[in-house]
Amino acid sequence: MDDHRLVKFLMRIEDGYPNNPYHNRIHAADVLQSLHVLVVRGGLIGHGYCDEVSLTSCYLSAIIHDFEHKGVNNDYLIRVSDGLAVLYNDRSPMENHHLAASFQLMNSDEYNFLRKMPNKLRETLRKQIIEMVLATDMKQHFAIHSMFQAKMQLNGSVPSGGNGSGGKSMRTSPHPTSQDGHKVIDEDQRSLVLQVALKCADLGHLASPRVVHKKWVQYLEEEFFRQGDREKQNGLTVSPLMDREKNGITKSQVGFFDIVALPLFQSFAQAFQDATPMLDAVKDNYAMWREEAAVYANANSARSSK
Ligand code: AMP
Ligand code: ZN
Repeated sequence: MDDHRLVKFLMRIEDGYPNNPYHNRIHAADVLQSLHVLVVRGGLIGHGYCDEVSLTSCYLSAIIHDFEHKGVNNDYLIRVSDGLAVLYNDRSPMENHHLAASFQLMNSDEYNFLRKMPNKLRETLRKQIIEMVLATDMKQHFAIHSMFQAKMQLNGSVPSGGNGSGGKSMRTSPHPTSQDGHKVIDEDQRSLVLQVALKCADLGHLASPRVVHKKWVQYLEEEFFRQGDREKQNGLTVSPLMDREKNGITKSQVGFFDIVALPLFQSFAQAFQDATPMLDAVKDNYAMWREEAAVYANANSARSSK
């Protein structure tokens, strides 16, 4: 890699993150550090899913994964026929843009830090980065999670050990080995594992300490409310949870954890038991939201019984 061009590229990418309440450069840095921890300490390297090239793909994917984010979701871009939706035929317009805009920069002489890398390696990096960043579109969430469960032969249950901390699973290892004990990971499996790792890192704030996590959810709520404001201005129906006159996502976190977050982190920790501390941290935030939901429900019932 060309160090000088790499630094210029990283600074240009950082500059290209707008000051959205949630999808900003701090989110990108947060995802990068979460992915680093997951890959290095969560067991991906240890189980042979991540070599030097894939690690580079992971870092670059996290860094660019929300580049030039518009602060609105794909549905909004599609509904207003935004140029990106037209360009990408309504298919993951935001994620396609994060990738295409970043690769365009990478290909220009000024930022081409990979210009001396052998073609084959560069092609592998590009393929892995594209697969990982496209997988961050939440529209693909359930399909990717199901494929991960099938490929890793998971049964969808919590790792044994009560609260999921430290217990040894009774089932056989999901990591394929041949009869002579060598790893036999195929490219599809490696790709899926890397995609799910980035998806977990993208939701990494769910495993942050309570105060930090709560802030991120408030930032996301504010970004959603701003989208709701724009929908009102454009005479569009306001998307669910985006109307600032009504309840936002801070009032529906238990559902998000139940349906999206917990199954994902549980599967990941089942496949990679070294990542169990991350699952435990997510469970702690889940407990916080349940406590808040109970307080909120009590206050509501007290109000309605007056
Ligand atoms: P990304 O846009 O790449 O950051 O993908 C993650 C998506 O997950 C965000 O855009 C949100 O739509 C969604 N998300 C993340 N955290 C939460 C949360 N706590 N509650 C609801 N949705 C969330
Ligand atoms: Zn993100």
